[in-house]
Amino acid sequence: MKYLLDFFHQKVPKSGNEIPAYYRSALVSSEKVLAVYFLISFGLFYWREKQILIVPIVLAVLMFLCAFNTKKMSMRMNVAAYSLTTVFWTGWYIYSFGWSIGGQHILLPMLVLVFFNIYESPGVKIFNWLLTICYRMLLYAYSLNHTPIYAMDQTTAIIYQTINSLTLFIILAIDFIIFSSSIQDTERELRINNQELHKEADTDPLTQLPNRRAMLDYIQNFCDTAPDPTFAVAIGDIDFFKKVNDTYGHNCGDFTLQKLAELFREKAGTDYRVCRWGGEEFCFFLPGKNIDEAWANMFELCESVRKLELEYEGNRFSITITIGIEENDFHSSIDTILERADKKLYMGKVAGRNRVVM
Ligand code: GH3
Ligand code: MG
Ligand code: MG
Repeated sequence: MKYLLDFFHQKVPKSGNEIPAYYRSALVSSEKVLAVYFLISFGLFYWREKQILIVPIVLAVLMFLCAFNTKKMSMRMNVAAYSLTTVFWTGWYIYSFGWSIGGQHILLPMLVLVFFNIYESPGVKIFNWLLTICYRMLLYAYSLNHTPIYAMDQTTAIIYQTINSLTLFIILAIDFIIFSSSIQDTERELRINNQELHKEADTDPLTQLPNRRAMLDYIQNFCDTAPDPTFAVAIGDIDFFKKVNDTYGHNCGDFTLQKLAELFREKAGTDYRVCRWGGEEFCFFLPGKNIDEAWANMFELCESVRKLELEYEGNRFSITITIGIEENDFHSSIDTILERADKKLYMGKVAGRNRVVM
């Protein structure tokens, strides 16, 4: 129901000559199929009845002209030409051959084109829909009271009925395929772009690690989904990092941060998560671990950093890191727990660095 109501509040862009590519494709294909259908109808009548019908020839030419001139004609004009052609054809068809061979169905694809026209307002669409119903009923009423101009034998009628059905279903299939795949393509693209935007907003560009915001979201999510969860957090800060920048240059500092991020990612695996907290600080989130278990992980990490041999533009050097750990006490906020971890990190710095404090 919501979608039906939303339809009436659709905002319509100002009508322009710019036909969306998918719409042009559906329109042109429908027009070409219709033109071929007119030619077949003409040929069939000539073959069976030895009479030349002018109407299908004129309409076939008109449809081909429309199909090959979508760039020169305005979208409105083109759709109007298509609609008027089908309206005229069905009227002439019922008048000439009667109701029983199904010429009236050729009206339906016109509605598909009207409803998928992004420049048409909901009011116009509904008006067209109502008009089509009335027109169809009118044709039926007419056919009840009038004998067709051309009487045809049963075989010819069956062939015509078949051609009408085939044409209707071919045009509908083309329109549905084009319109449905264009809608799905747009949705797919939107979703992919959204996911990429989210990823970009959550990722630190230098290290490709999640950033502080992403980590806080993750921890919050973790706590929201598991009541009273056990976890530990750790904050690590590189020791004397300023010296790396001052001695070997800022680029070397960046390189060091990237190498450390690689090491952290590798060590964390699926056991815990790491993010770039800011500057030369990293935050670790260890779900399901108490402070002792977290300490073991962080101690191993601290050792790995110490052993990491770094080389940048011929300069070989190594670094150390100081880490503070805190565990969930089940009543403090996430911010408070992180603050405590940060305080322990500071204590580690004061105590001489290159250590894990719990
Ligand atoms: P401490 O052991 O007390 O932590 O000493 P430190 O030198 O690491 O601490 P300090 O806070 O004095 O210096 C941190 C430095 O990290 C300063 C800043 O220029 C550098 N830094 C922060 N972010 C980046 C970055 O993205 N790239 C580079 N190359 N340097 C950075
Ligand atoms: Mg720092
Ligand atoms: Mg530091």
